Amino acid sequence: MTKSIARTALTRRGFLKTAAAGMAGAGLSGLTLTGCAATTPGAEDTSGDTLAYTYHNEHCLCNCMFQCTVRDGKLVKIQPRPNEDHRYQNVCLKGISEIQNIYGEARIQQPMKRVGERGSGEFEAISWDEAFQMCADAFKACDETYGEGHIWMQFSTEAQQRFAPLLPSLVKAQTGIPPLNGYDMGQGNGQNQAFAWSGMFAQNTIWEWPMARTVLMVNCNVVETGMMWSRGMLDAQEAGTKIIVVDPRFSPTAAKADEWVPLTAGTDPALFMGMIHHILENDLYDREHVIAHTALPHLIDAATGTTVGTSREVQDPETGETSTVVDPYVWDAKSNTFKPYNQEGVEPELEGTFKVNGVECVTQFTKLKNDYAGYTLEWAEGITGTPAAQIAQVAEEYAKGPSIICNGVGGIDKFQASDIAGHCYALIASLTGNYGKRGTGLGIYCYHTSLYEAALGGWPLPEEYHVTAPMGFYDVVQKSDDVHAAMFFGDIPTQKAANWAKTEEWLNSLDFVALADIYKSSVMDYVDLVLPVCSKLECPDSVGGVKNANGYILQNQKVLDPLFESKSDFYIERGIAEAMGLGDLMPKDGEEYARAILTSDDPQIAGFTLEKLTEANGALKLLGSEDELGPEVGFEYHTPTGKQEPYYENMLKWGQAFPMWEEPNETYADNPLREKYPLQFGQARTRFRVHSAYSGAGWIQDLYEPHIELNPVDAAERGLSDGDQVEAFNDRGSFTTKLRVNNAIRPGSAFMAESTYRQYMDGTMMQNVTNDQLSERGYDLIFGPMIPYNDTLIEIKKVGA
Ligand code: SF4
Repeated sequence: MTKSIARTALTRRGFLKTAAAGMAGAGLSGLTLTGCAATTPGAEDTSGDTLAYTYHNEHCLCNCMFQCTVRDGKLVKIQPRPNEDHRYQNVCLKGISEIQNIYGEARIQQPMKRVGERGSGEFEAISWDEAFQMCADAFKACDETYGEGHIWMQFSTEAQQRFAPLLPSLVKAQTGIPPLNGYDMGQGNGQNQAFAWSGMFAQNTIWEWPMARTVLMVNCNVVETGMMWSRGMLDAQEAGTKIIVVDPRFSPTAAKADEWVPLTAGTDPALFMGMIHHILENDLYDREHVIAHTALPHLIDAATGTTVGTSREVQDPETGETSTVVDPYVWDAKSNTFKPYNQEGVEPELEGTFKVNGVECVTQFTKLKNDYAGYTLEWAEGITGTPAAQIAQVAEEYAKGPSIICNGVGGIDKFQASDIAGHCYALIASLTGNYGKRGTGLGIYCYHTSLYEAALGGWPLPEEYHVTAPMGFYDVVQKSDDVHAAMFFGDIPTQKAANWAKTEEWLNSLDFVALADIYKSSVMDYVDLVLPVCSKLECPDSVGGVKNANGYILQNQKVLDPLFESKSDFYIERGIAEAMGLGDLMPKDGEEYARAILTSDDPQIAGFTLEKLTEANGALKLLGSEDELGPEVGFEYHTPTGKQEPYYENMLKWGQAFPMWEEPNETYADNPLREKYPLQFGQARTRFRVHSAYSGAGWIQDLYEPHIELNPVDAAERGLSDGDQVEAFNDRGSFTTKLRVNNAIRPGSAFMAESTYRQYMDGTMMQNVTNDQLSERGYDLIFGPMIPYNDTLIEIKKVGA
């Protein structure tokens, strides 16, 4: 049986091409209450109940499988779908809140067109036919006025519910491609090159953690935000693995860990640089591994840092383009001369300065030692605020191995230097032999529970229908003036662009803006047309989608008919396509689309049909995927030398061939702006929401209302008390919310759960204050620059003070 393991090596160009083909978004997490169920108050089991099976929030990445009970046409109970493998039998409070959330006050109930000024929130109800025609007319007018390719269309997984979108291709839109999100991918930007992955996800699974002595969790609050995977962490802990959490906040995960390493927000690279310095100075690296499996013995020009060796031409298998590759030399100890790195019997020197054809050369390792000479433990303590002794102790435990670095999605990703942090993880793993063998590894673990992925079919469109070149949404707002009409599925503008004033200006510059969404998000007030999308629990067809997650093929079965006047995103796309005369190019219904997806010659889904999925209550495990551990990663990679390559020659021009310290853009210690705005403002996810989703859920609102958190010391300095209504502000803008005083927040910082709707914050938004300054270096990285949301300085005062 051929098994497809989700490990790939991809160029940036190849990656973007691949990404353009599918448009699933990435986001985050939840809380696992195994075996829990929720029922609407007063609900009792009766024999008239019907059961349906589906999967939940793709945006939290857990994809929990649900068993839903419907009584008298109303959803009354959500339970985890029974599963032989209890690791996949989960639901969190967001999941169970759906039985109330989908009927909530924040639902958009009918199509509406704007009648007041943009931003006024004044709309009137219209029919679906009128709504579809408005979109079709606006898109055609855009094409006629400006030519093709001036429409922007983007989907978020909250409102792009199940099937891959087809409308962006049909209208030849520019579109937001998930890898170029501007967030969540920063650490991946720095990690992947050393081992030639396509991204940010670890190449093994969390089930390998019990084989590690130490797991370093960095920016990873899985206990709270990705609870399906907290099971893996707790199992490992029980098996004796030491869990060390690095986080500025005393997060729920830090509370469960064996050790918490607090640090100043945005200084993670400095912590790792101090660790690496300590490892180098005390010979704690794995010399044998470094010589055998890394490029660190390879020779580089001492003056320029470029590789010294023999040149050859290679052809990119994807693009056919040729480029020059230099096969490096090493200094052979036996013959005391330079030799090709891969010559049989060669014994590379790890350190030293040598002459090659008259050019003074050093090994990469020697350069590393020189570059890192200043990154002492004391230096690292000065930057991070973490005691030098603790940095040394963590470095020693990590170096002992086998060790894993598990980074989350967020935290340092919301700083410009996130690629430097990821690069540090790759470097320290290569130095200590903590990559390639069992119980070692790095990257995001809390995403895939299985390495097995099937190649699914899709819906083919004629070649002339395709989206145009990918571009990050941040660049569309900040740099592009060639978009004149836009359509969003989900509240993209408030989620993805920092510094709201600029985004608002961009929205106001457009001829036409439409929003398709489930709930009345903050974007709604700024658009011309609002279309109600149904939730993932509603569907006009028997099936609303089919996908591969957690080693299963999952079926989104119809639980309810669409509520109110809503339609699924698929039928909204289809309605617009029909109004444009393109409806025949789309599948006629969900069943036809689902069957196309299941049409694949991948042996892992051999014989899988819609009928079999339905019989199996919406989930079939991929054939041949029983071994959840998967094969060992090993020591051969798709890097140019086939070895671990933590020296990034292509980053020389940025001074980042090895990861080097760079101050945050705004929150650096001696920024004069701190006199006016002394608090670093950070945001992350909580167990109560996934970004803004569930903001309108009454049950969630009962448990958690929007608020900003401050350390008691900072609150007292400002004369603020828990429960005060406060204004957070800087030169970009302000927002108002409630204050909570919390010891878990580091002094000098303010914290808030990511995003909620304006209506729950007095009409204001946290994006009013966030930093949108992009790093030019980011454009040379696979996922582009990251938006430094958390690299923001603010001040807080009592409302009205
Ligand atoms: S929100 Fe909760 S129930 Fe839904 S997929 Fe995520 S963890 Fe599972």
